[in-house]
Amino acid sequence: MNENCIFCRIVRGEIPSKKVYEDDEVIVFNDINPAAPVHLLVVPKEHLESLMTTRPQHQALMGKMLLLAPRLAREHGSIDGFKVVINNGHGGGQEVFHMHFHVLAGPRPWKRTL
Ligand code: AMP
Ligand code: ZN
Repeated sequence: MNENCIFCRIVRGEIPSKKVYEDDEVIVFNDINPAAPVHLLVVPKEHLESLMTTRPQHQALMGKMLLLAPRLAREHGSIDGFKVVINNGHGGGQEVFHMHFHVLAGPRPWKRTL
């Protein structure tokens, strides 16, 4: 856990979020500035900076998060598909340095691309 990390603070319940799923390892909530009609963030509870710092021991967790995406997209109204985006590092456009998967879906046009 990281004291000042915004997503660690959401995991700890110190900052409110619109949570749609939670288990012992993962939390999912609505993005505060949605780029599409459905815009969820799939976040590991463990503070991992990005895919650049994940290790073989995170393989099962990464797989679990990826497999959650189609289920979440379906539950939130996607009919014909969805997009998963993972920004990694400054060069990859990452702004919050607690690793997360964006799940985007819903009728187009979308507000912006990530
Ligand atoms: P990234 O650029 O991949 O690091 O994406 C960070 C995302 O986190 C952006 O889409 C933000 O809108 C979103 N975000 C930042 N703060 C919050 C928050 N407090 N609750 C929900 N989403 C947030
Ligand atoms: Zn964190």
